[in-house]
Order: sequence, then C-alpha cells, then structure tokens
Amino acid sequence: MSHDPNCLFCKIVAGQLPSRKVYEDESLLAFHDIHPWAPVHVLIVPKQHIAMMSDLGPEHAPLLGAMAVLAPKLMRELGVTNGFRTVINTGPDGGQEVYHLHMHVMGGPRPWLKG
Ligand code: AMP
Ligand code: ZN
Repeated sequence: MSHDPNCLFCKIVAGQLPSRKVYEDESLLAFHDIHPWAPVHVLIVPKQHIAMMSDLGPEHAPLLGAMAVLAPKLMRELGVTNGFRTVINTGPDGGQEVYHLHMHVMGGPRPWLKG
C-alpha cells in the first residue's frame, strides 16, 4: 500500500499524528475535520496514498464506492438525520489543500460556518 512520508493524512493513517477517529477498516479511515464547517464534519480517506481524484483509474472504483457507501452510515451513527453534504476538492482550482484524496461529509443543523 503506497504511503507518502511527507503527507499529512498518510501520517494520520499511520498513527504518527493524532486524529479523532470515527471509523476504520482495511482500506478506509474516517476522522473529524480539525476545522469543522458544520456541526458534524468528517473526512473519509483511503489508507493508500492517492493524491487527488484526477489520479484515479478504473481500478479505484470499488474504493470510491466504499467511500460513498460509508458516508450515510457515518452520518446516521453520528446522529445526522436531516441530510448531509459531500465534497471532494481536486487541485488548485478545486480548492484542495491536503493532497491525499478525501471526501468531506458534513451535516447537522444550519447555519454552518461555511458550505
Ligand atoms: P481540502 O481543502 O479539501 O484539501 O480540505 C482539507 C481539510 O483537512 C480541511 O477541511 C482541514 O480543516 C482538514 N485538516 C487539515 N489538517 C487536519 C488534521 N490534522 N486533522 C483533521 N483535519 C485536518
Ligand atoms: Zn497521503
């Protein structure tokens, strides 16, 4: 499994940096965003280092499918009952800041700080 020693989320996956973990399996990790935009704001990341969505190939379809299926499960478990927002930022114009693929999943009563 590829790992980039300079990547923030690879360090979180490896346990070298702390996170408030909400879910883990063999291929995915989910944790609370450190600067939440919404009452509930988690990030779902693949454990393998994939920098961004534009690096995906057909072989990653099951991984992305697993991320998409995990989002509603986590929202249910975290008490989000009135809908949620999913966002994947890609590249500079997409507003991506951390270059390790991640899905933002945000929910909870509005107003939100952002988004
Ligand atoms: P993006 O702009 O899509 O790359 O989003 C990166 C997200 O990672 C932002 O929402 C940050 O608040 C979040 N973030 C950055 N560092 C950490 C960290 N150490 N733990 C949890 N979330 C983080
Ligand atoms: Zn990484």
